Amino acid sequence: MASVLVVEDDQFVRSALIRHLTEAAHTVRSVGTALEALREVAHFSFDVVILDLGLPDLDGAEALKMLRGITDVPVIIATARDDETEIVRLLNDGADDYLTKPFSVEHLSARMAAVLRRSRATGDTPASPVLRVGGLSIDPLRRQAELDGARLDLTRREFDLLAFLAGRPGVVVARKELLAEVWQQSYGDDQTIDVHLSWLRRKLGETAARPRYLHTLRGVGVKLEPPSLEPPR
Ligand code: CA
Repeated sequence: MASVLVVEDDQFVRSALIRHLTEAAHTVRSVGTALEALREVAHFSFDVVILDLGLPDLDGAEALKMLRGITDVPVIIATARDDETEIVRLLNDGADDYLTKPFSVEHLSARMAAVLRRSRATGDTPASPVLRVGGLSIDPLRRQAELDGARLDLTRREFDLLAFLAGRPGVVVARKELLAEVWQQSYGDDQTIDVHLSWLRRKLGETAARPRYLHTLRGVGVKLEPPSLEPPR
């Protein structure tokens, strides 16, 4: 049971969502514009927000950014646009998951359950030690990462990815495992992982061709380990 904010301007879709979520014992509030949504999250606490991208007042990406400025609440994007680039960009901008319309009730339930499991798991995690790999230090509790003493500016997903890999240095982690552990999905496409890896890599100041910490083993997986002592050529 969760408290859900539905942001959807289409009256038909909105009623269907409210009906389904209420039947599934969730508490639902709903609004039809991005500005109303911002007001809602500023005044009430939600477990998850379902955000339609095609709203009358603000572009979905804009709405997401403003939401993220106020709250860390999990956001599931509901989009009619089947545009991978846009979806990847929104995931990087802080969306937790997405659904392409039209979606089934089962699909929505599955995504919501995954997102809630993830946010509740993070919320309940007891104090964990700072992870250190070479010049990297990752503090899972404060959600801060540093490289050679300089703070890294990571998105939530990049941080989760880095922290997961740093928790098992030198171990090759399969993409499937990353999807399951970091994205909490049992299926999905490798592209999402690749894109996040390449962003993370850039922030660590390395490239796939000249890796220092992040090593991709084609067809096998990814591992994080301290760089070798030789200075990079
Ligand atoms: Ca719409």
